[in-house]
Amino acid sequence: MSELFPGELETPTFEERKKFYEEEFGLEKVRWLKFMWDKPVLVADVGTETTRYRPIHKKHLGELVSFDSYESFEDLEEEVIRYVPEDLYYDLRVYKHDQQQTNSIWEKPDGKQLVFHLQPTTTTTDFSTAVDTDGVTSGKDNGMEGCKCEEKREKLAGRRLSQYIFCEECFKKTAEKTKDLYKFLRRNFETVIMFFNGIGFDVHVLDEEAFYMDDYQRDMLFNKLSKRFPIDINGKEHSNDVTWLPGSLNGVTGRKVIRVKLFELTSPLKILYQKSRPEFFNKEKEEGDGFYSTSTL
Ligand SMILES: [Zn+2]
Repeated sequence: MSELFPGELETPTFEERKKFYEEEFGLEKVRWLKFMWDKPVLVADVGTETTRYRPIHKKHLGELVSFDSYESFEDLEEEVIRYVPEDLYYDLRVYKHDQQQTNSIWEKPDGKQLVFHLQPTTTTTDFSTAVDTDGVTSGKDNGMEGCKCEEKREKLAGRRLSQYIFCEECFKKTAEKTKDLYKFLRRNFETVIMFFNGIGFDVHVLDEEAFYMDDYQRDMLFNKLSKRFPIDINGKEHSNDVTWLPGSLNGVTGRKVIRVKLFELTSPLKILYQKSRPEFFNKEKEEGDGFYSTSTL
């Protein structure tokens, strides 16, 4: 049991993560990501937050490792398994390959998938810089203020993983807000899909026009929406150019990054405790509950 997270959530050990990537992870499941890319660029954190990593990868702590040159999805999958990532992301940018050039350095991003992150750890204080045109600081109505878990995050600030502390109540509120954001976006966009990222939710807009919004349009939209929704606009969790890869494991909470449908957001605790629970946790539980432990068989 963890003092950081609600319920049974616990940071997996390196061995558990390894088991997940070897037995449960499959890039096959995310081939749909190729809708805009020939070869998606995956990006991994080897273990910066949890300090659980393969010793040979120590030099990569504090940075993101890119998987951008590979022959096939099978090769890419092998690479991922070798790194046992704490978190695995994909690059949201779309690269246009210049046929005149053979060097990949000439591949320039010419679009970016529009994704919103809603985290239970995002509070009103994160929006102190978001100011309305009339000079009023916004963020008062994003619905996340004043919870015990925020106090705990502040009290334990500086301690490992303290920025990820959240409670069930804030998680439920985040799910509610995600539902609202989805409905709001569906008024303007055709294809909007949602994922649970192990802590909060990611809302992806797949309409082509959204890929080609410029920075100014994006900033306007993010600022506007952050007044009503707990959107992580500061990129605290990661750079704004990447997002969690569906099908991967959140190495902090030990939950799978999974797709969620609108109706599922009405019972968010099911997502948190059942649907996103990796197989390896279930197996351990069953073994533990039985008459024989694996060591005696
Ligand atoms: Zn809370």
